Amino acid sequence: MNLEAFILGTGGMMPLPRRFLTSLLLRREGDLFLFDCGEGTQVSLKMLNLRWKKIHSIFISHMHADHVTGLPGMLMLSSQVDRDEPLYIYGPKRLGKYVQETRRILDMYINYDIVVREIEGEQMIYENNEYAVTSFPLDHTKPCLGYTFCEKMRPGVFHPERAEALSVPRGPLWSKLQQGESVQLTDGRTVYPEQVMGDKRKGRKISFVTDTTYLPGIAGKVKDSDLFICEGMFEAKLEEAAREKKHLTARQAAQIAQEAGGIDKMGLIHFSPRYTERDLQELLKEAQELFPDTFLCKDRQSLDIQFKE
Ligand SMILES: [Zn+2]
Ligand SMILES: [Zn+2]
Repeated sequence: MNLEAFILGTGGMMPLPRRFLTSLLLRREGDLFLFDCGEGTQVSLKMLNLRWKKIHSIFISHMHADHVTGLPGMLMLSSQVDRDEPLYIYGPKRLGKYVQETRRILDMYINYDIVVREIEGEQMIYENNEYAVTSFPLDHTKPCLGYTFCEKMRPGVFHPERAEALSVPRGPLWSKLQQGESVQLTDGRTVYPEQVMGDKRKGRKISFVTDTTYLPGIAGKVKDSDLFICEGMFEAKLEEAAREKKHLTARQAAQIAQEAGGIDKMGLIHFSPRYTERDLQELLKEAQELFPDTFLCKDRQSLDIQFKE
């Protein structure tokens, strides 16, 4: 089961010629999930040339222009593909009105249903048998949400030698056991999946945190992430200014990653337009002093998220 992350943009405030606005796309077996959609997000998506079909759902961190002005275009783009299922859009309050009003004023022709769900604070916002998306509150100049995409536990490894030792005939009974069902043998014995399967294994987790001041509570939400995408807007010497504007420095992002524990790697994102690519190396260095497994997100970078166990 593939799980890939595509960074569609890494900038904050305004798009730059070589730096689109912060946005993350996840692809899990053909399903696409988009986190934030600033101006130009659809251009970046096109440049990636993904064989993309449908966006399953869109998650918006907050109602600032650099995170939502790409939405109308993205909704038009989604009209190019046939879809029967609605497109779900989640985010803080006023998102519904924004989508509704833009559609009305721009007379947008959209050939599918759009369902907007306004979220407040910590919530399980989407769940199926395989994964769940949850939100948690951040602290910005307006209501803002962080998100985690978390796969559920997977069945353990099947041990054929154990099945053979229990005289379970190879074939459909083996697949039943692998699917977690117990089976009845012809001699009347029942064999339970626990007898032939190893321990359950962890799924993968990706967290997305942008536009917030440092909050001690974030660490607990993002812990054990295989990939933690976090705002690192400013260098450490601008911490005071960052706090006033309710943003994070790269070093504060690293502090969160360090406190969280279990984070495989952290990608910094939402860079201030004041920094050149060269300047960003300084932010990276400051973060790595606290959390060595930090990298600078790059526009249209893709990351393959592997199972740890
Ligand atoms: Zn922003
Ligand atoms: Zn903002």
